[in-house]
Amino acid sequence: MELPNTPNGWAVRLTKILNHLEGENRFPVDVPSLARNVSAQFFPEEPITLVKGRDIPGFEGMLSRAPVGKTGWGIFYNSGITSEGRIRFTLAHELGHYLLHRNSATEGIIVCDKKSVTFSDPEHKNKEREADQFATNLLMPLDDFRRQINARDCPTIEHFSMCADRYGVSLIAAIIRWLEYTERRAVMVVSVDGFIDWAKSSRPALQTRAFFKTVNRDPIEIPSASLAANQKVCDDPRQGMRLPKGTWFPSEENIHEMVVDADQYDFTISLLLLSNFSAANIEDDPDDEAGQTPMAF
Ligand SMILES: [Zn+2]
Repeated sequence: MELPNTPNGWAVRLTKILNHLEGENRFPVDVPSLARNVSAQFFPEEPITLVKGRDIPGFEGMLSRAPVGKTGWGIFYNSGITSEGRIRFTLAHELGHYLLHRNSATEGIIVCDKKSVTFSDPEHKNKEREADQFATNLLMPLDDFRRQINARDCPTIEHFSMCADRYGVSLIAAIIRWLEYTERRAVMVVSVDGFIDWAKSSRPALQTRAFFKTVNRDPIEIPSASLAANQKVCDDPRQGMRLPKGTWFPSEENIHEMVVDADQYDFTISLLLLSNFSAANIEDDPDDEAGQTPMAF
């Protein structure tokens, strides 16, 4: 059988193998064991023989060929990372680089930053996107995820926490997964010290121009009437509340905001659920996602 050559192609192939071997209730994916087995099976001449944490300050993870005289490859995560979810995502991302990009790795090494957008070289940026895409599809297969949260559901933070537990990923990774297929208008805003660090909109939100561009512009302050700025006004910020009209966007629509403080990383996640427009309000030609900042979690 021909080998896949795309991020989704590899994720689907490995998902089928895992479903066959372990059944559908097999999550979370054991990435270290998968990496060793799959590389040995498909590429016996150059298997992944090392999977571990390593002191790589400033970087999230790394793919590296074994030193001269030894065979094989290693995939590494920054040993300063303590979150199991981030470690799992990073290793899956590095496995994606191994499957897709190892032959084009300069000097047999690829190092990965937390924000793929910070790479100025477009080819490198594209590789980062592909590795993220592989990791997302491998760890949270779409058909299984959709069985947890339907495309038309209006989920709460608790739903996303349950998904994060099921797949062994961070809360942010689970929310991003949902934003990719939901039919609802929703925007996730990640803020640091009162300013938007990055944001991601669902497609229906993008199509109605509900998004924040954070690249190549001055920092945007979070609105003073937002729940993120005033968490004390709400008994349970994770359940959230309906905001005064015009808080995040100039339009007069109702927005429900839920907030989670990720203390250990010093950032705040706001999930904005917007009202659902009729099809007549949707633009045919949405702004592309270039201004949004993807993040490798
Ligand atoms: Zn990478």
